[in-house]
Amino acid sequence: MGLTCAYCLAKKGHSVDVYEADSILGGMSAHFDFSGLDIEKYYHFVCGPDYPLFNLMKELQIFDRLRWTDTKMGLFYDGTLYKWGGPFELLSFPKAGLFLKLRYGFHVFYASKIKNWHKLDDTTSLDWIKKWEGKKGYDMFWDSLFQLKFYDLKSKISAPWLWSRLARVAKSRKSIFQERMGYISGGSIVVINALADKIKEYGGRIHTSSPVDEIVFENNAVSGIKINGQFINYDIVASTIPIQYLTKIAPSLPKIDKDKLKLLDNVGVVCVIVKLSQALTENFWLNISDNEMDIPGIIEISNLNTELKEHVQYVPFYLHKDNPKYSLPDDYFIDKVKGYLIRVNPSITPDKVKDIRVFRYEYAQPVSTTHFLEKLPPIYSDGRKGFYMSDTAYCYPEDRSITESIKAAVNIADVIEKTI
Ligand SMILES: Cc1cc2nc3c(=O)[nH]c(=O)nc-3n(C[C@H](O)[C@H](O)[C@H](O)COP(=O)(O)OP(=O)(O)OC[C@H]3O[C@@H](n4cnc5c(N)ncnc54)[C@H](O)[C@@H]3O)c2cc1C
Repeated sequence: MGLTCAYCLAKKGHSVDVYEADSILGGMSAHFDFSGLDIEKYYHFVCGPDYPLFNLMKELQIFDRLRWTDTKMGLFYDGTLYKWGGPFELLSFPKAGLFLKLRYGFHVFYASKIKNWHKLDDTTSLDWIKKWEGKKGYDMFWDSLFQLKFYDLKSKISAPWLWSRLARVAKSRKSIFQERMGYISGGSIVVINALADKIKEYGGRIHTSSPVDEIVFENNAVSGIKINGQFINYDIVASTIPIQYLTKIAPSLPKIDKDKLKLLDNVGVVCVIVKLSQALTENFWLNISDNEMDIPGIIEISNLNTELKEHVQYVPFYLHKDNPKYSLPDDYFIDKVKGYLIRVNPSITPDKVKDIRVFRYEYAQPVSTTHFLEKLPPIYSDGRKGFYMSDTAYCYPEDRSITESIKAAVNIADVIEKTI
């Protein structure tokens, strides 16, 4: 979001500096060296309606890096692997009665056709699911997914958030019978590097390993930032870091904004990435609903990105950063994941694990509650001239994604242009 915003402004002739706390660019989309494989720390897929991403890739002349794959989905339910994701798979699922399956199928289909999500904004996801599928349907098809992503916050998630996820994936299907997902050949780093190159070409500067310690205000207007105890004067500062951090680094924000920030929540992730010497399953996405596994799914990215020369799986544990489990050592998660892999596919003995790593991100998933947009501080206000803020929460009702961060970045750049 920060890079796209800087790119949009630099393109229009503004002088920009980008400050990134990490030693590398990319945030949640950053890559790492997985024993010789250059890959994202967290899984990424692209969907059919990701137009802001497509438009940016065209502009950056990297659109030819987009690829599409006919993918498969699975459901690991109480120790057994089932096919999932289409009408035939649903109808042949033996654990639910026909009526329950029809209610579920109709709800998911109906959700994908809704255009005006505002009608749903009074309703929570849980109430919405129960209205269409009943409590039995919720317990059977949804509870473990909500529980293992949001825990005690699950009852707060708004219906539009779920709607947007269902609609985005539904619009990506080739047909009602075939799911089709996209990926960027070479990974998200292709977009990140292209953006960084363009920013520099337009005269902008990018500073890595440069955490902003403070955003400084004077008389209701931003005056600059502090880094390493040094003050640097700017007449405009746009923050695209997770907004929760602003409570610490922007202590002089107007009270009205700080009060709003305090009420917002965000769930972290501990994500284990595995390299196996064979495929785990044939599925790209494996939903998990199993009493012995406290994860919502396993993402076998090599079944989407068929150019990868290795079998790679991501196993996310969504955990609030204040949950004591979030801070447990890497080995705790690695041991769990090795056990889960054998449970899903008994041929995955420990010797099949070629490499395994763990990554953590404190603010990985905004907790989008009902009427969420009204709960966010505005991107810009007269009470803090020159300061603009956004993050993945502002994508509401859409879920956080690369395309939504690009859309938000273009919007901040527009707001800056209109208000300076
Ligand atoms: C597990 C997981 C799975 C995902 N799956 C997908 C997917 O399939 N498809 C998809 O499109 N998207 C997916 N996403 C989401 C996608 O990665 C994000 O929406 C996107 O990368 C967000 O980019 P951003 O720039 O808005 O925010 P961030 O990536 O959060 O970037 C914020 C940046 O701010 C930096 N920062 C923080 N504090 C400071 C400071 N004080 N000073 C300077 N810099 C600071 C951080 O280091 C970071 O680089 C996934 C994310 C996760 C975690």
